[in-house]
Amino acid sequence: MSEQNKFVFGIDLGTTYSCIAYVDENGMPTVVKNMEGDNTTPSVVFFEDENNVTVGQVAKENAVIEPQKTVSFVKEHMGKDDFDFAPYGQKISPEEVSSHILRKVTKDAAEQLGTEVKDVVITCPAYFGTAECLATKHAGEIAGLNVLAIIREPAAAALSYLTRQQGSDKTVLVYDLGGGTFDVTVMKIASDGRAEIVCYEGDQALGGQHWDKAVVDYLKDEFQEQHSDMQEDDWLPEDLQELRNKAEKAKKELSGRGQTKVTLNVAGRRAQIELTREIFDSLTQSLLNRSIDCTDRAIAMAMAKKQGTGANEGVEDAVFNRTLEQVRNDSKTAAKTVIDEILLVGGSTRMPQVATALTERYDIPQQILDPDEAVAKGAAISALAEYEGRVEHWQEQQKNGTFDMQDEEIKEEAAKYQTAATVKTTSIPGFKNNKVSIRQAVTMASTKSYALKVVVNHEEEKCQNLIIKNAKMKNGEIVVTQRFGTDEANQMNAQIMVYESDMSVEYYDVNEIENGNADELGTVTLELPGNLPADSPLDVTFKLTKEGILEVTAKDVTNGGELFVTMQATAGSMLSAEEVKKLKEKSQRIAVV
Ligand code: AMP
Repeated sequence: MSEQNKFVFGIDLGTTYSCIAYVDENGMPTVVKNMEGDNTTPSVVFFEDENNVTVGQVAKENAVIEPQKTVSFVKEHMGKDDFDFAPYGQKISPEEVSSHILRKVTKDAAEQLGTEVKDVVITCPAYFGTAECLATKHAGEIAGLNVLAIIREPAAAALSYLTRQQGSDKTVLVYDLGGGTFDVTVMKIASDGRAEIVCYEGDQALGGQHWDKAVVDYLKDEFQEQHSDMQEDDWLPEDLQELRNKAEKAKKELSGRGQTKVTLNVAGRRAQIELTREIFDSLTQSLLNRSIDCTDRAIAMAMAKKQGTGANEGVEDAVFNRTLEQVRNDSKTAAKTVIDEILLVGGSTRMPQVATALTERYDIPQQILDPDEAVAKGAAISALAEYEGRVEHWQEQQKNGTFDMQDEEIKEEAAKYQTAATVKTTSIPGFKNNKVSIRQAVTMASTKSYALKVVVNHEEEKCQNLIIKNAKMKNGEIVVTQRFGTDEANQMNAQIMVYESDMSVEYYDVNEIENGNADELGTVTLELPGNLPADSPLDVTFKLTKEGILEVTAKDVTNGGELFVTMQATAGSMLSAEEVKKLKEKSQRIAVV
């Protein structure tokens, strides 16, 4: 591959495995193998010392020897303040850990292809809120990457799907069971090459690792049975880590055959334990049922949305409960009214129990879509489209003379997009003859609801959702403006407290905040002249960007005072731009293999 080639990349930064892809010279979305020769890299990071970090299979195996220096499942901590890890006395953030995973996959791809890997799109799950999306972006920046966009995993899966599907209009349910999480997305695919997300459901604590855990518990019990003198203390952290690795291996083997054997050596004792698919299926039945329950809910939401929309495209609880009951009473008939096809994504859908359960419950045709690779490939398509758009934009600016080369920031930004990509988006199968550009191919729906605290009738405090989960994001974003009034006369300021949640109702009780069902994103304080009567008009605008970041504008209509704020979550942990810069410098001093 010559030096002149310019490629851009899509990265699926997964809970258990990560994957990188690009659109090759022939327009084919293609996964790049890592230096170990695998299509996916375990998202496991081993901190050898301050200057050396190992990522991937070696780290996963090393975790057996030094679990206290190893991080797995870091994605669960992105944007949260619940991560306590200091392998050599110095606290390390989830963003930093993730940045090492990104460095490993990009470094390997650069070596494999002999080209620079700089411009990327990174994916994040549908359920990620503002804090988690920003944390993902920061991880990319710390890794020294130019993050073109953060896109949702279901949108990436949709793009992958669009490269293959031809023909008629249909509605597809994407059942995505990964390593740490479960997502269901219903989307409409049109024959002109567009996809529109109808709704999402998900379970953040349901993924392959939970199936592994069920096997771990079983193997441990069986071992104990054979060696009744074993004490709980005899299991050292390294034994448990090895047990986890063997459990995952056994689980994968059972996807291909009916039985397998696991040999364990713990505390000088040995046991060989047989595991059949039948036992495995019964051990994990309740987990599978949870995924089915979620799928029922997604189908019910799609049915409710089809029956008509309420204010802000929200679905009233009563309507949803009615459709959910319909699904539960007769899942096959109900599902067929809204779903034409089920698409299986995520490594865990390789377990035969998944296809069997879905057929039994819904009896709808299924298709397997590159279980481990669809998301990375979709991200690669998105990356190319984003990059192409930026190159065009800067060329246009240059042509029009609006391009102020004296401005350092503009100069820096423009410099990133001087080389056109080697391959065009129009070369990608499925997008060849489309009139629709890829950037407009997938219409997203909001994955969270966004509310502000209001005083209803000057009496009762409530949270009012301005943006409701699953609302259509036309042109990739949602902008909602609503007029409110000041509560009292002569208010000196108006405080706009903003919340993010999964609740689909228009109003919810403030107790939900304390109950942990809504996260505070922050407060915007709009200064007022202090002489306004009660009920003076204030306009509040919520804009949800395609990256999942909320921007809030408040305006004092009487006097025209205006305030614009990009919300940064206060509930989670957020790095400042300065911190990101420092961590980027630090990261460059660390060798990642
Ligand atoms: P993903 O995040 O989509 O790459 O999914 C990773 C999950 O898929 C991990 O929990 C893996 O253990 C699981 N997985 C991968 N291959 C198989 C397989 N053949 N059978 C069962 N689970 C698998």
